[in-house]
Amino acid sequence: MSNSKTERAIGPLSTAAFARAQKLIPGGVNSPARAFGGVGGTPLFIDHARGPHLFDIDGHRYLDYIGSWGPMILGHAHPEVIEAIHQAAARGTSYGAPTEAESELAEQIIEAVPSVQRVRLVNSGTEATMSAIRVARGVTGRDKIIKFAGNYHGHADSLLVSAGSSAATLGVPDSPGVTQGATQDTIVLAYNDVQGLTEAFNQYDGQIAAVILEPVVGNMGCVIPTKEFLAAARSLTEKAGTILIFDEVMTGFRVAFGGAQQRLGVTPDMTTLGKIVGGGMPLGAYGGRQSIMDQVLPAGKIFQAGTLSGNPVAVAAGSATLRILKEDSPYEYLERLGDRLAKGLDAAATDAGLPHQVQQVGSMMTLFFNPNPVNNWDDADRSDRERFGRYFWGMIGKGIYMPCSQFEALFFSRTHTESMIDETIDAAKEVLKSC
Ligand SMILES: *Cc1c(COP(=O)(O)O)cnc(C)c1O
Repeated sequence: MSNSKTERAIGPLSTAAFARAQKLIPGGVNSPARAFGGVGGTPLFIDHARGPHLFDIDGHRYLDYIGSWGPMILGHAHPEVIEAIHQAAARGTSYGAPTEAESELAEQIIEAVPSVQRVRLVNSGTEATMSAIRVARGVTGRDKIIKFAGNYHGHADSLLVSAGSSAATLGVPDSPGVTQGATQDTIVLAYNDVQGLTEAFNQYDGQIAAVILEPVVGNMGCVIPTKEFLAAARSLTEKAGTILIFDEVMTGFRVAFGGAQQRLGVTPDMTTLGKIVGGGMPLGAYGGRQSIMDQVLPAGKIFQAGTLSGNPVAVAAGSATLRILKEDSPYEYLERLGDRLAKGLDAAATDAGLPHQVQQVGSMMTLFFNPNPVNNWDDADRSDRERFGRYFWGMIGKGIYMPCSQFEALFFSRTHTESMIDETIDAAKEVLKSC
């Protein structure tokens, strides 16, 4: 999909940097979503970022709608977060021994997230979900887990089945190297399918350790659960003694301070967190009811550990971020901007005569080039990827950095302004006319 627009948008320094990186790092990137695989062409190489803007090494400025794929809800390089990082780093970057700051962050999480009474800090969202699954299996003494197609829970083997965005974009729903054994206990169902879920509980009666789901999906684009689906997930798991895990790595502190569970009023047994909880540093967390979490070593017998877990620099960034989000709540503001952007993009696509859906929850949303509402992965898969690529590159040409895949939600921050949102809508109006 490389075309003249690509050439114009991406500067010579990014192009050279990508060529160099490709000789050193597989595909030139340390995480596949960054490689522009879904839209073709060369990724921007970033020099620095501030507030709502990214600056590439060619000196171009972009209005950022990725926000590091979710964490940067306060905008880039928030002065108080950076100061917290400086202060923590100056005292030493890792001790391998407990600190009071870890309890401070744990307290902030427990106070915010309804389902969490005890929490363990880890280094990524992947670690959080992998650990939560182990705990659920350990606690229930059962093997099987249920996940939903198009939900992404990180790259642990047992969860790397029908995993949405990166995998879907590349057309590799399952990865080589993930063994049959690792996934044989993973049951994959369609999102929002109450009947499918009910049947699975009948078929595997007494065998299901956990149901894991994104309570608002971001990883097949933004997909919203029906009330009936979440209610069924809650009641079926409760009846079966199955642990319901909300993977809120993306939605936690994003769609509400207490996550999707607070916003939607459904409380799971366990919750996984990442992204915002680390304030842009590598940090994840998993937590839940005390009776579950107290079975984790050394309180209980289920093994889970990490040399850098609870890292003081990451904890400082996360703690500062949560403190600011609580003291100066941006959620109403983000809601208002989100509604404005969603309406604007919807009108722009309608004016251009393009079949589309805008699906939005607060500051996360997706413009799907799809004639029908997207409720599950099969729906999402019918979206027009080629058109999305043209839209993406058109927006890049106007200095607006959208997620580089039809199957990733966009995010914005509290540093985005109403006039930036309007600028984005104006750009989309022009770009969509020739999509
Ligand atoms: C990003 C994400 C993960 C994985 O987190 P990493 O920090 O990338 O390992 C897991 N679950 C969801 C819902 C995510 O959005």
